[in-house]
Amino acid sequence: MPLQTPPQTRAERTGYAETSHYDDVIAFLEALKLPITVLATSDQGRKVPLVTLGKGKLKVYIQANIHGGEVEGKEAALMLLRDLPKSHPKLLEKLTLVVCPIYNCDGNEKWGEGKRNRGSQDGPEVIGERANGAGLDLNRDCMKAESPEMRGVLEHIYRKHDPALVLDLHTTNGTRHGYHLTYSPPLNPNSDPAVLAYVRDSLLPIVRKRLEKEKSWKLFDYGNVERRGMERVWATFGDEPRYVTNYAGLRGRLSILSEAVSFLPFETRVKVTYDFVLAILEEAAKDSEKIQQLVRDADKRRRTELGVRFEMAARATPESVPLEKPGPDAETDHRKAPKELEQVTLPVWDRFKTTRSNKVPKGYFVTHGKVIELLKSHGIQGQDYSHKGSIETFVVSQKQVSRTPFQGHRLIQFEGSWIEKEALVTFGWFVPTDQPLQALIFQLLEPENLDSAAAWGLFENPPGFEAPLPLIRVPQK
Ligand SMILES: [Zn+2]
Repeated sequence: MPLQTPPQTRAERTGYAETSHYDDVIAFLEALKLPITVLATSDQGRKVPLVTLGKGKLKVYIQANIHGGEVEGKEAALMLLRDLPKSHPKLLEKLTLVVCPIYNCDGNEKWGEGKRNRGSQDGPEVIGERANGAGLDLNRDCMKAESPEMRGVLEHIYRKHDPALVLDLHTTNGTRHGYHLTYSPPLNPNSDPAVLAYVRDSLLPIVRKRLEKEKSWKLFDYGNVERRGMERVWATFGDEPRYVTNYAGLRGRLSILSEAVSFLPFETRVKVTYDFVLAILEEAAKDSEKIQQLVRDADKRRRTELGVRFEMAARATPESVPLEKPGPDAETDHRKAPKELEQVTLPVWDRFKTTRSNKVPKGYFVTHGKVIELLKSHGIQGQDYSHKGSIETFVVSQKQVSRTPFQGHRLIQFEGSWIEKEALVTFGWFVPTDQPLQALIFQLLEPENLDSAAAWGLFENPPGFEAPLPLIRVPQK
């Protein structure tokens, strides 16, 4: 038998001048002889590949290239699939990796000038575009699940594999600083509190320290410098579960957002992403039993109240953050790293707190077919059921429809209250909240939530036809 040389990614073959095309990814995976399944068929007809590696108890889903021009996660994921069986065979006895290296295939193939598609990115010269084949941002689609890609993730990842840990790999621009990669745990305060605390306060700080010591990579919480009143702060992004990592958190799963910094050379970004993912996998393997217990406990947790409004908040201690030093000699080409840095002490706004909660009901009656279908696609259980006794209907006190469309919708902000009465309900699909996905059910069905089915307009009537939301709650006794 001739010795097989391991395949090289297009990035490696071209000295990091180019990134892998869709056909390169498929050829690479075929050369690895890994079984390829289809996660989804994209709007433009491409089969989104999914591969599984390892035979451990702890399942980890690695998703790369959700934004077409953010390409280092794709390259790093391919390299890890190739390298790990030789370099870390023990790891693959503890973990099963489910990997989608090219989630947004259509976006990856919308080739254009890097300068245009991602203006502050140091290579490659030619890259794809952020949106998917239908022009949707896949990292805003987790709740409404309108894209074939997210529908595929719900079916094949969450409803089938149900991974304990989800990694979502990106590139970031924004505030210019001295870090190589920034990260985030799940941010929504309705996430399982023990899962959230473990990822944010234990796993990520350990990985940060390890990579600084072993590889000299500088890592920090995802953020940008923003003003909060009179103060300059380091602030994270949103709490909404429309984002991949927040969504996984709301399902009671561990998740980590990885954002390599765009003004570093492409090769550096691939390397730091590779090392970051590997360090997370190693730490997760060490804590495998603990993580499996966290996830089992999250499935059993039931809460009596959950948040509907949130506010960003700071962690206890400010940190010294390396920011680009302004001045006449500062770098003017934003595709290149800062020339000089200065340390600035900033409060770190890395979390959200709940400012208003609603009671979690015994369950919701849903009559709207499209919403029932959406709930089922998320893996939420329900049944046809009739009920006699106390019910609650939502009385809207304020309804604010966004003037600008977002992802093809005008988001609606509802304020109101649930009014209790006695009734007999003989129709509708009843969704009990006494099930593992309690927080997700609450998020989708409580109309005041800003990422709910109601907020996305999924209950909307034809124009000119005003009716109450086709939604009834059954209160807890
Ligand atoms: Zn991104």
